[in-house]
This record gives sequence, structure tokens and C-alpha cells, in this order.
Amino acid sequence: MSIINQAYQQQIKEKAIQLGFSDLGFAKVEALNGDKDRLDQWLKSGYQAGMNYMNNHFEKRTNPALLVDGAQSVISVLLNYTPKELQRDKNAPKLARYAYGKDYHFVIKDKLQLLFDFIKSEIYPSLDGRLFTDSAPVLDRAWAAKAGLGWIGKNTNLIHKKLGSYTLIGEMITNLEIEPGEPIKEACGGCQRCIDACPTGALMAPYKLDANKCISYLTIEHRDSIPEQFNGQFDNWAFGCDICQEVCPWNWKARPTKEEEFTPNPDLINLSKEDWHQMNEEQFRTLFRKSAVKRTKFSGLKRNLDFLK
Ligand code: SF4
Ligand code: SF4
Repeated sequence: MSIINQAYQQQIKEKAIQLGFSDLGFAKVEALNGDKDRLDQWLKSGYQAGMNYMNNHFEKRTNPALLVDGAQSVISVLLNYTPKELQRDKNAPKLARYAYGKDYHFVIKDKLQLLFDFIKSEIYPSLDGRLFTDSAPVLDRAWAAKAGLGWIGKNTNLIHKKLGSYTLIGEMITNLEIEPGEPIKEACGGCQRCIDACPTGALMAPYKLDANKCISYLTIEHRDSIPEQFNGQFDNWAFGCDICQEVCPWNWKARPTKEEEFTPNPDLINLSKEDWHQMNEEQFRTLFRKSAVKRTKFSGLKRNLDFLK
């Protein structure tokens, strides 16, 4: 088919916003050669730590044409997750902001499906493709940047000029031909607050993250005990870490999300330091029933909490 016109593109964007997404952009499917070299170097340096799945599907990860038959375009979406309020007890072990509400995988996938159905029924009946959110070998941030939704900051997060970096990314890889967006210029400038603030030295240099030292990796993905070398460096983070985003000037004016599914459970927000440390498995299951925190299991969270003592 020929490239769909601007009016249809606008309709897709309006529908995405109506569904609750914060922004949407389009990119043309092609091999991400620059990212391929960076990923190759990163993997060869062992910076993926225990995330062995990052070693798999290297070619598919850097070229979606190999992942989705007939792929022509990537429709990239962002969803702001800035919480309406933060944990009340300032001394309580901390949870990364993205984990305050319902697990984002479900929230984004449901909305993407509705957007897909809309495009198929209203714009292009032959639409085919696949939906992703942090769920397959897809370089989400690279595609969002290519679609013009922001730039990849020195802290390795995607930064949107209005939304900042507290956004989750999803994408639809489709057979639809769409006029791609223009990537925007990187705007970190001379700033390096994120690098200076990282308490473990995981951000070794601009755009260079060693997961072996990253609190986010160590508290969520890492399976063994936390290495002693990090004693006293976790700044009270029990699940994830937001430090390199908290210090980023682009987040200082971040507006709270409108997504109801991300409204924090009041029981979670009100947990005191003592509550966290005394939590039992049943309380864990109730509190995090629909949450991404389930990923660590109770034993993982307990390990993290014990490490903070
Ligand atoms: S998430 Fe935390 S530990 Fe990881 S790079 Fe950012 S500041 Fe450093
Ligand atoms: S803190 Fe500064 S250098 Fe780091 S991502 Fe934000 S703007 Fe870029």
C-alpha cells in the first residue's frame, strides 16, 4: 500500500491520546546499525550482568524486519507514570516510581491492542503486526528516539521535552507504511548530574551503564545475594532506583500521570519503615498482587530489605 496520509496519522495520534497514552510517534523499520555497534560493545564488556537474555536474538533486536514479517513501521507510544504522590515515610525503603501502580506491561498492552483495533477497523483493514512493551527483543528507547519522541540522555533513559523521563515505552511493529517522524536533537548539553549522583558508579560515563553496579538491576534482576561491596551505597532503595532520573532537570517539572491504573495503593504509600521490614509473605502478596514488584518474589524483596538494614 502507499504511505498513509497526514490526516490518518493525526487520527492515530488523537486516538492514542484518547486511550490515555502521553505521546506517539512513527519510525520507519530499518536496521539500527549505530545501536547495533553500541549493543555489541556493551555485551562484550559484560555490562548486561546476569541478564543473559540480552545476549539472545542479537540480529532481531537490532532489526525488527527479522522479528515481524512484512514490518514497515514502528508506532512508538509513551505513557507518563509520574505518581500523584510519593511514599509518605521519608525513612522508608524506597520503591521506583514506575512500580507504584498496576504492572505497566498489562496497562500498555491493553491500550496498544485498542489502538491496533482502531487502526485496523478505521484506517487500514489489512493491518498486521505485533505489540511490545519491554517484552521481546526490541530496543524501545532507540525506536522512541527515532520516532522523534525524545533523545536518549546521558543516564540512558529516553527524555521527552515536556514529559521528562518518567515514561514507559511500548510499540507496535506493523506492515503499515507511515511517514516517519524526525529525531530531535540531544539536549543534555554540558549537564552530567546523573553521572555525578549515581551512588554506585554504575553510570560510568555518558550513555554507559554497567548493570553489574546498578541498584535497579541488583534489586530486581539479580538472583544471588547482593555483593558486599555495595554495603551502604543503596541510599535506601529496595526495588529499583530513580536517582539518575530524580536529579535530571528535565524531570523537575514532570506532571503527575492521568492514568488511573498507576494510582498508588494508599496502603503502599503509607507503609512506614517498620512496616516494610516486618512485612510477611501474605502482606506482600496482597500489596503487590497486580504490581511489577512481584517480579522479585517475596524472597527477593526480603533480601533487598535485609541488605538495607
Ligand atoms: S538507576 Fe541508580 S544505580 Fe542505576 S545508574 Fe541510575 S542512579 Fe545509578
Ligand atoms: S541529568 Fe543531565 S546529563 Fe543526565 S540525563 Fe538529565 S539532562 Fe542529561
